Parts: sequence; structure tokens; C-alpha cells
Amino acid sequence: MQSWGRAENRGGGACAHGRERETIVRQRRRRGNWHMHPCAAVAHMSVPCASGIRAAERGLSGGLSGGLSGAGALRRPLPPAGGSRGPDAPEGWAQAYLHLYVRSAEPWPMSRPPLPMSCETAAAECSARSSPAPCPAAGTPFGERRYNAWNDHVKRRYGGRVQKVSVAAGFSCPNRDGVLGTGGCTFCNNAGFTPGYLDRRQPIGEQIDTGLRFLLRRYPGTQRYIAYFQSYSNTYGEFERLRACYQEALAHPRISGLAIGTRPDCLPDAVLDYLAELARESIIELEIGVESCTDEALRRVNRGHDFACSADAIERAAARGLEVTAHLILGLPGESRAGLLDGAHRLSALPLRALKLHQLQLVRGTALARDWERDPGAVPLLGEDEYIALLADFVERLSPDILLQRLGSEVPPALKLAPQWNMRLSELAPRLSAELARRGSWQGCRAGQ
Ligand code: SF4
Repeated sequence: MQSWGRAENRGGGACAHGRERETIVRQRRRRGNWHMHPCAAVAHMSVPCASGIRAAERGLSGGLSGGLSGAGALRRPLPPAGGSRGPDAPEGWAQAYLHLYVRSAEPWPMSRPPLPMSCETAAAECSARSSPAPCPAAGTPFGERRYNAWNDHVKRRYGGRVQKVSVAAGFSCPNRDGVLGTGGCTFCNNAGFTPGYLDRRQPIGEQIDTGLRFLLRRYPGTQRYIAYFQSYSNTYGEFERLRACYQEALAHPRISGLAIGTRPDCLPDAVLDYLAELARESIIELEIGVESCTDEALRRVNRGHDFACSADAIERAAARGLEVTAHLILGLPGESRAGLLDGAHRLSALPLRALKLHQLQLVRGTALARDWERDPGAVPLLGEDEYIALLADFVERLSPDILLQRLGSEVPPALKLAPQWNMRLSELAPRLSAELARRGSWQGCRAGQ
């Protein structure tokens, strides 16, 4: 607990960041992801210095069940599990409460796990104090990972792994059926991410049974399963047909919810209303293919919508309480590094729950692959070191509230043309953490820059 002394010394006095506090509260509420107990909110408001919180966090991370044994203002008893604290409680107590709240692996009396506290706050307050001492916020609120990992969140929320079971419902997309075009996005070959065991001619229930046979062997410890409507645009079709498909999947006794991948321009309000209704009883993850925040890149890959369309769909879905994951490809033609990093800021301003990041891969049979075969210089591809560095740059600028659900992808070797990396998908996460550690940074540490 060596950090306590510094936390206390650097504290002192009431927090003068009322406006920031109000902004944070408003943002959380608007996003529908306000998970902190009101007392924790008070704690966030009233802590004298967020750097103290960071130090307290390190001091407390080892144990949650006893009383605090730190010094001075932080030498307070822990609130009883399930207890609450009025806004007049001592500041030190508030700090302890917040940290237990954020770090606790114990069940807490709330409907959902809390989000980690913004480290922007910590950094801003540290620099405002311009202390010559090293800033305790130089640690990371996400432990050794240094980013807000989806898997950790899922384990906290559901007590174990939640596995997606892919299903193919036979939908198309407006970029292929002639409504917007017939060629599709230039990077797209749905075979690249459709599991080999899927047979779209089977009823959805049978597809789920087939998938479960495979997944139960591979992930025996899985807690729950959700049906994953992944290929094509799975909200594109007659409303009654959509509803029948979703209901068929939800009727399966092993299925606890749905993950639905789609385009932002295929989300009319009626469909969103229906998904919000389903979300009251089931897990509903809505995945929206944003792909790029740069309109020029979206145009170059023949996406058929712009970034404003994605932002609008995300806002409308979140306004209904839906949890939205955005899908983004790093390295599309027409996207500059500056544009991509600016995209981290633009996405952070949206009520997103999670993000799936992928490196650009050239899949056989796509227009982009053909372009590359004709002229490799026309489609620059990222090397694995370049990708890790870009990923770290991006993650540093991304809001710490956004969960990272994927960091990359792996197209089946028979379908992949390029790039040929030596790095396996499973190495991506540790390599990102190592790169962030090397820089002394973490997700969101440059979110305001
Ligand atoms: S990526 Fe999605 S929207 Fe684009 S062509 Fe493929 S299925 Fe259609």
C-alpha cells in the first residue's frame, strides 16, 4: 500500500471539476451505460484528486473484503456489501468506495458491472496540479492488458464465456441485390468469415445444433450461447421475415440472445424498436458495419453509405437502450493515418458499447484482391509491426469506455491472398498490451488529443 501516502498528500481540498463531472454524468446517461451506483458517482465528483484514486486503486487491488488500513483520510472502514453511502460521507471513504466499486470482482448491488473510470480525468487532474512527483495515473486502469477488453467485461457480467453460434438466415444486402449496387463492397467475400460447418439450407434451429456440437467440444466451459447472424446484412428484409428468423433462434433452448451484424443504412426505426423489445428479455448485441470514419475511404471501397449514416444509426439504436458494437477495418484504401486516428475521436463521441477492429485482408474473389494482383502499389497493406503500432495509436485515442471486442481477424488461409503475416490472431492481444506497456500508455490516455 505504498501509494496511499502519495495519494493523500496529493489530495487535499475539494475537487473543482464540477463541470467535468456533470459532463461525464450526462454522457453516461445519454449512452445508456450509466452503470455506477449513485454513490460511486458522488465519489467521482468529490475526490480531491483523481491521481489519488489511481494510487488508491493500486493499494486496494489486492483485497476487497477487509477494512482499509491506509493512512489519514483513507483510513476508513469499507462500506458493507450492499450498503450505500450518502453524499456527506468523508472524501477518503468516497475514494475507497469508488475503487472497490470499480475493481471489485464481487457481486455488487447493481444491474450491470461498472465501467472503468476515465483515465483522461486522472491525467487532466494530475497535470492541473503540475506536481514534480511522478504521476500515479501513469499506471493503467485496465491492468496488464492496458485496454478495455470485451472478454473481461463479459466474464464479469455473465460469470463466464458467452459464445456466438453462427447462423446463416439467407439475407442479402443492398450493395449486392441491386438496390445500391451489385458488386458489393470491394473487400467483401462472405465466405471469408462464414464458418465451414454452416449450411444455410438447414433451418436455423438445426444450424444452431450443428454449431453447438462443434463449439461444445472447443469451449467446454462456455456459460451462455447467443445466435450470431453475421453474414450479409441481417436486418435487411421484410419485417415479418426478420422477426421469424430471430424468434426461431431465440426459441432454441441453449440460446440466450442474438448478435446481429448489419449495415447502418438497414436499420429502420421499426426494426430498432423490435430489437429493443427483445433486449428486455435476451442478450441483444447489434453490430454495425461502420468500416471507416473517412468518407473518401468508404467511397473507394464502394460501401454505399457515409460516416454520417453510421453515426445516425448508432445514435438511434443507443437511444433505445441497445448496446452497439461498431465494426472497423484499419488500412482501407483512401484512409490516411491522420484520418484513422481522427476516427478514434469521432467514434469516442458516439454512444458505442464496443468496437471490433480488423486489419485489411485481401480475400480471393474480391475486387480489392484483383486490384492488388494487377498493381500491388495501388492497395498498400499493413505489415504486422505496422499494424500493432497503428492499433496502439488508435487505442490510445479511443474512449476508455468503449470495449474492444476484437483486435484483428484471420481469413481462412485458402481464401487469403495478402498480407501474409507470421503473427497468429491469438498473438495480437498480448502484442498490443506489450506495445502499450513499452509506451507507458493505455486505452484513452490520449483521448482528448
Ligand atoms: S460487406 Fe456487407 S454490405 Fe458490403 S457487400 Fe458484403 S455483405 Fe454487403
